[in-house]
Amino acid sequence: MRHRYYFTFVLVILLILLPACVLSPRWSATLLIGGDEVIFDTAAWRQLVGDFGEEVDGQRAVPLERVLWEQGAPAVEAVSLDGVDYAWDKYYDRAWWLADGRVLIGEETVRPERVTVIAPELLAQATASITDIAPTVASALGLPAPQEATGRVLTDVRAEHVVLLFLDAYGYIRHQEALAEGLNPRIAALGEPLCAVTTYPTQTPVSTASLLTGAPPLVHGVRTRGIRQTDAETLFDKLTAAGRRGVAVEGGQLAFNLRNAEIVLSGDKDGNGGTDDNTYANTLAVLEAGVPDLLLVHFHGIDDVGHEYGPLTPPEEAKISEVDGYVGDIVDRLPPGTLVILFADHGMHTVQEGERLGNHGSLLARDVFIPILLYEVLASKR
Ligand SMILES: [Zn+2]
Repeated sequence: MRHRYYFTFVLVILLILLPACVLSPRWSATLLIGGDEVIFDTAAWRQLVGDFGEEVDGQRAVPLERVLWEQGAPAVEAVSLDGVDYAWDKYYDRAWWLADGRVLIGEETVRPERVTVIAPELLAQATASITDIAPTVASALGLPAPQEATGRVLTDVRAEHVVLLFLDAYGYIRHQEALAEGLNPRIAALGEPLCAVTTYPTQTPVSTASLLTGAPPLVHGVRTRGIRQTDAETLFDKLTAAGRRGVAVEGGQLAFNLRNAEIVLSGDKDGNGGTDDNTYANTLAVLEAGVPDLLLVHFHGIDDVGHEYGPLTPPEEAKISEVDGYVGDIVDRLPPGTLVILFADHGMHTVQEGERLGNHGSLLARDVFIPILLYEVLASKR
């Protein structure tokens, strides 16, 4: 009797599983990204759905933008599905790859055989990455790069001190526009930045992990904005291990766990609605007390004001001018033998999302491209 029950049980399970197999047939599509052909199929989709799956229209789905990034697209201008183009600024947050191989994009559903990523023109000018900063800092200070760094060294300059000026949401495109508007004369005086790409999603915790480790998200493990620490070795770990000193002057709170850094938090003490003036004052105090080997200064204001009013609005323009002044004053106080690296974690684009008029996180050019400006303080300048 027991055998018969067992047999019936197995049969029922098989009958349950069979339709599930028939309902999710295997499928595959060819992705064309930057001249490379990649096959994206059921197996590749399943690898992503565990970490990045969402529930869309009653079934599991992976955001199309996530698929494109994981398959090698650093930035997206448009996506062509079997020859039909979709401008990415209209679809980046409403396109998913469904379990059955169909793509839901806006109001349409297609089952593409060929997906072509059309890259922004600026990609051809991008010569650097946020992952290059950690190896560059380490090299300048005469240290080995963090263990898992994949970025490259951007200058052979050797320096006694390195100062990282982190301008949150000050994207490359915004920098160029600010130049035309005359908003950033002090930054402009430091020279031309490299056009660089950041990592995805274009959010502060993810970019900061790449900044500190010199590695992409797949390596440092910070693949979504909710993760705020990494097990991979960071610049500050490297510095501490070598008996050197790293200080981070932050805004009101830490966007990322800066392990092994001396942290100076800069709350809005004067209650004027922003922390950049406090960050500036704290930076001057740190420099006054003795320039550390590595100083990271994180200005949050351009991001805060950009979210609230949108980029290219009077309050955001005023904030860029304000931060430009802080940057100029800080650089003026640095001793010869200091390498300054000014950069952003991501840019920002205009949105209409309830209270928000600016946001980032996508593969749009405005979010992805960042400036990396290298400036060496020379004795003759003093
Ligand atoms: Zn932001």
